[in-house]
Amino acid sequence: MKYDLIVIGGGASGMCSAIAAARRGASVCILEQGKLPGRKLLATGNGKCNYTNELMDASYFRSDDPAGIGAVLEQYPAPAIVAFFEELGIRPMSRNGYLYPASGQASSVRKALEMECRYLKVAIRTEFRAEKAEKLPNGDFQVWSGDACCRGRKLVLSCGSCAAPKTGSDGSGYSLAAQLGHSFIPPVPALVQLECAGKFFRNWSGVRVQGKVTLFTGGKAAGSDQGELQLTEYGISGIPVFQVSRYASKALAGHIPVAVGLNFFPEQNPRKFSEEMSRFLEKQSYKGISDALGGALPEKLTAVLLGRAGIKPDWIWPSIPVSRQRMLLGLMQRFNLEVSGTKGFDSAQVCAGGVRLREICANTMESLLVPGLYLTGELLDADGLCGGYNLHWAWATGLIAGKHAGENL
Ligand SMILES: Cc1cc2nc3c(=O)[nH]c(=O)nc-3n(C[C@H](O)[C@H](O)[C@H](O)COP(=O)(O)OP(=O)(O)OC[C@H]3O[C@@H](n4cnc5c(N)ncnc54)[C@H](O)[C@@H]3O)c2cc1C
Repeated sequence: MKYDLIVIGGGASGMCSAIAAARRGASVCILEQGKLPGRKLLATGNGKCNYTNELMDASYFRSDDPAGIGAVLEQYPAPAIVAFFEELGIRPMSRNGYLYPASGQASSVRKALEMECRYLKVAIRTEFRAEKAEKLPNGDFQVWSGDACCRGRKLVLSCGSCAAPKTGSDGSGYSLAAQLGHSFIPPVPALVQLECAGKFFRNWSGVRVQGKVTLFTGGKAAGSDQGELQLTEYGISGIPVFQVSRYASKALAGHIPVAVGLNFFPEQNPRKFSEEMSRFLEKQSYKGISDALGGALPEKLTAVLLGRAGIKPDWIWPSIPVSRQRMLLGLMQRFNLEVSGTKGFDSAQVCAGGVRLREICANTMESLLVPGLYLTGELLDADGLCGGYNLHWAWATGLIAGKHAGENL
């Protein structure tokens, strides 16, 4: 059977493409390599699915060709995505502007999308791994998996990236796009934990502390973010680390040195902080420094800072040489670490890089190189910050592609 539209990849953006096209009367077939469409959705937002954000504009996204991002978001701002999901029965719940389904369950989002596809009679062919995609001389597209073949008048590539391959997407979309003539920026892990050089990490493993992380590439500040930092046995994690990690991945791929500075007291300027902290510690001169800091920093972190400043935990503040006092106060606001790597694609939530946006028309998501071909979601060179931005991009690009692919058939 020949379909009006084939969608490769039954994830977030693929199901949206299929729904938008089928609502316009197109016959649609989704080819999904997994057993279940939208499996990655189940893992999103810690199982709660942060599906969009009230604050939505192009500044929350990164790309080598950022020009097209605004055009996508203008067509589908956050209220349009909320309205789309409300129609599917998903009521929004806002947590400081981060939007989740009121059910608190990512599974409700996945199910609502699949049910809408089924209601619209979208064929969902699971366990079909597209290996080859070609455009035939008559303009049709043909997709192969071994000997099995599927033919359509138009084709949407919604294969995702190579982040979190256990949930389905394994990077095969890049080679399918390349087979059809597209180029892509090599993907690197983003929204990912950072591994750091050093041997002391076991000592601070498990600490969660408020702070600011600033990432330096080649000695220059590339990005910073503030919030709960997680100190781990390999280095650092937590949302602020995720937010800057794409710059680390890109630099490491180019063999550029990467470092981070951690500030555990980011609210105060260094001079004021030194004065206040010194007074605070002086008042507790009857205690060892480790106990004196007990109400200001987690114990394990204090031990690491004291170790680096060469201060014994039972020394009292006035007995500590001034140079070491200064070093300790400095470390509290600028604890430097060399970044040696990331936790890789397996642990990354998304990828930075992908098919170049300059090869796509942002108003329709149609390829500028191959008429009738559309590309969506994380396969493209656009990565959003943590906070619902990546799913928003997936829904918006999917809906735009499906709308245009489903027209004039
Ligand atoms: C742990 C985790 C948590 C996350 N949490 C959030 C969050 O809360 N909010 C947010 O905005 N973003 C979140 N993200 C990111 C978000 O899930 C993705 O950006 C989004 O799912 C991308 O949608 P997509 O349709 O482009 O790709 P995917 O959702 O990855 O879908 C691609 C689909 O294509 C299929 N496929 C791939 N290649 C082939 C092939 N050759 N043949 C057939 N099928 C193929 C895959 O099996 C997959 O089902 C999270 C990601 C992870 C890993």
